[in-house]
Formats: sequence, C-alpha cells, structure tokens
Amino acid sequence: MNNPSNKTQPLTITPLYVGRNEDVSMANVLYAQGREDRIDVSVYMFVIEGGDSPIVVDTGTLSPEYVTTHHPYKFVRDDESEPATVLRRHGVEADDVEIVVNTHLHWDHCSNNALFRNAHVLVQRKELEYAINPLPIHLRAYEKLPGLQAPWMVAWDRTETLDGEAEIAPGVTVVPLPGHSPGSQGVVVDTDTGRYLIAGDTIGVYDNWNASDWRDSVPATIHTSLFDYYETFERMAALDCEVIPSHDGRVLAKAPFGK
Ligand SMILES: [Zn+2]
Repeated sequence: MNNPSNKTQPLTITPLYVGRNEDVSMANVLYAQGREDRIDVSVYMFVIEGGDSPIVVDTGTLSPEYVTTHHPYKFVRDDESEPATVLRRHGVEADDVEIVVNTHLHWDHCSNNALFRNAHVLVQRKELEYAINPLPIHLRAYEKLPGLQAPWMVAWDRTETLDGEAEIAPGVTVVPLPGHSPGSQGVVVDTDTGRYLIAGDTIGVYDNWNASDWRDSVPATIHTSLFDYYETFERMAALDCEVIPSHDGRVLAKAPFGK
C-alpha cells in the first residue's frame, strides 16, 4: 500500500531505544542465578522494514512519571527517546504501520499500541486470556490493578488473536515461545544476512540464551511455566536463528540486523 511499485526490499530489523530501567539486579532477569551484578534494562520497539509496510514488534512504556508511579523501577527516558519522536527520526510514520506484534502483554511491551492507529495488533490468544486473569504475582506486570486500565486495552478494537505459528508477511513469522508468560511469542525474520528471532522477554538479555546448548540457557525470573520454558528453548535451538533479546543494551551495537 505504501509501496506503489509493489517491490519489496531485503528485510531489516532495527531496535528503537525508548528508555531504560536503571540499576536493576541481574537476579530480576536471570532466574535463580543469585547474581549480584546490576544492569540497566533497555526498552525497545523493533521495526521490521523492507516489506509492504513497516511492522513494529513491541511498543514500550508510557512516561517515566507513569512508570515510576506504578512499578518498582527507576525508569528514565529523555525527550529524544520518546516513542513517537524516535519513530519519526527513524523515518517511520506511525500511521503507515499496518501490523503491530506484541510479544506479550506485560506493561513494558504494549503501552504505546495507541500510537499505531491503522495497525492490526497481533497477540496470542493464550496471552490475552492470561492478561485478563493473571496469577496474583503477575497482576502488576499486566497492570491489572484497581484504577488502572491494562495497556493493551487502548487498542482493543484492533487487537487480533493468533493460535500458534503464523506467517504475518513474506519472510516474517510469529512463533509461540511460552514460558515467560503463557502466550509469549517471538518473530522470526529472514534477511539477507541470515535468520533472526526477536525473542521478547523469553530472552531478556544475552545471558539468558546459550546458543551452543539450549539446556544451559537461563529462564527469566518472571515465568509462568518452566516446563514450557525449556520446551521453548529446545524449539528456539531448532529454529537456528540469531537471537535478539528484548532488553539488552548491547543490541544497539549490532543493529541494524539484516544489513
Ligand atoms: Zn515480560
């Protein structure tokens, strides 16, 4: 639609940085590792370009004021890293985005779905069901709290559920990655420089993933099933992709992917 010649380019993936949670314990990220290291947890929107229209994977958080009021994090973001600004600077018009994928419905992955007024928002059915009725320990992650509206609800009229794997555009396939949450999903993208997996919080930082042996990978501290999680690790190994974590500051040095 935005490409009148109907010619597509090789696909690329660009992480757009939209703020960070500062000084977070590694124990919040790596399950049962007891690490004393502290890290900054970056937040990204990922943009896949080269097809008919840009695809956005995850949409980040609301303002630092909102985040620090409702979550136990020191979230910082300067004006330059505000989602609409970052998109514009990258050359993507939010109105041109026809597909948004939420890897899952935790607050830091879907809070700007409203920016993309013309997009279908793709979520696994199991994730939506869990977001409506999470276990008590996960209520805050979904912002299912008195007086708050869960962030995914702002695009409720445009939200569509998927049941399992789905090719959503040529070379772009959504794959279920349950474990961190029941309906976590990743996005596999075939590019000229190889195949990548945008992994969502299944792999929050590079330390979660061991590419040489999936058995040595480490689940996220937040999870709903370790059984699912290890099946997901095994499945990821079979996908044979370069894995892109959701919150690792180091991805920016490697980006863009596919060029
Ligand atoms: Zn999450």
